[in-house]
Amino acid sequence: MTKKDYYEILGVSRNAEADEIKKAYRKMAIKFHPDKNPDNKDAEDKFKEAAEAYEVLSDPDKRARYDRYGHDGLRGGASGFHEMNMDDIFSQFGDIFGSAFGGFGGFSGGGQGGRRRAVNKGSNLRVKVKLTLEDILSGVEKKIKVTKYISCTSCNGTGAKNGSAFHSCSTCHGTGQVTRITNTFLGQMQTASTCPTCSGEGQVITDKCTTCFGNGVIKGEEVISLNIPAGVSEGMQLSVSGKGNAAARGGINGDLIVAIEEEKHASLQRDGENLIYELFLSFPEAALGSSVEVPTLEGKAKIKIEAGTQSGKILRLKNKGLPTINRYGRGDLLVSISVWVPRSLSKNEKEMLEGLLHSENFKPNPSSKDRGFFDRMKEYFQ
Ligand SMILES: [Zn+2]
Ligand SMILES: [Zn+2]
Repeated sequence: MTKKDYYEILGVSRNAEADEIKKAYRKMAIKFHPDKNPDNKDAEDKFKEAAEAYEVLSDPDKRARYDRYGHDGLRGGASGFHEMNMDDIFSQFGDIFGSAFGGFGGFSGGGQGGRRRAVNKGSNLRVKVKLTLEDILSGVEKKIKVTKYISCTSCNGTGAKNGSAFHSCSTCHGTGQVTRITNTFLGQMQTASTCPTCSGEGQVITDKCTTCFGNGVIKGEEVISLNIPAGVSEGMQLSVSGKGNAAARGGINGDLIVAIEEEKHASLQRDGENLIYELFLSFPEAALGSSVEVPTLEGKAKIKIEAGTQSGKILRLKNKGLPTINRYGRGDLLVSISVWVPRSLSKNEKEMLEGLLHSENFKPNPSSKDRGFFDRMKEYFQ
């Protein structure tokens, strides 16, 4: 089988510039990407074919050998061509796509193969967001305005005047790497290092943008909409990918890290997924029984107090607590009862109480149920 010509595969002329080759490959890779063409063998073959062509034509050394000797020039030797698998192809994408394809991950860190343009990475940005318990109950969308580095609009983030005053680096032909071949008694050895002319960026700016002084980024503001899920808690951090500082000259944006802060509620306290409300009852209410209202995050709820309710008793309102982030259902609202002892008494009240002082029913007579304070704490708070 005769192999197709690499220039034909990418649809470029034999004297195409590195940038043109890159653009052509980018187009092909997007068109025949397996995510876009599931179970399409023909597209997969075209995708691999284009990757192979690009691997050769994007490398000045391989391209020169291919130009001179055709496919035969690439066989064998330390720098010869090898069958590319899908992983190899995806690992190329750091050069080609920058952050355009978020899904593949991992290509900003460099590493594989050593043939990779330096990709600038914007720094992460940290913000705090204050939430009420009501926000946490339902989840909430918050719009926040952040001051950060944004891509310069005068130069489209390139750092070059009008977005066009740059050319592909002639030292490394836009690859960001220079390859040196040395002859040793073992044969030819090839070493790759970052291009000193362009610091690995692959491009050289001839005239700097006057707005951003060649950085490609400027200080600016962005309103970011945050979707905060129900059930978050103080100290949790949510990360919004790509919403941090923009990177110099078209690199990958940093992330926005959102730290959750909880606002204190006027009457309810949070304990994990449960809420606690401390209910003070008057002595007659506790002794006679009554019906009282307690606050919840969704308005007031009426609860019945049995006659003879003791201080320290805990009533449980099922599913009136908070949701948890990775589980269905909600916690409970625990109503902890304290019987209020009056701090001052009128003469009349004093006389009435003195009349009850030796009354048999008023003498404390706790059963084992009344005593188990610590057991109760364990039962409710574990
Ligand atoms: Zn260079
Ligand atoms: Zn600019």
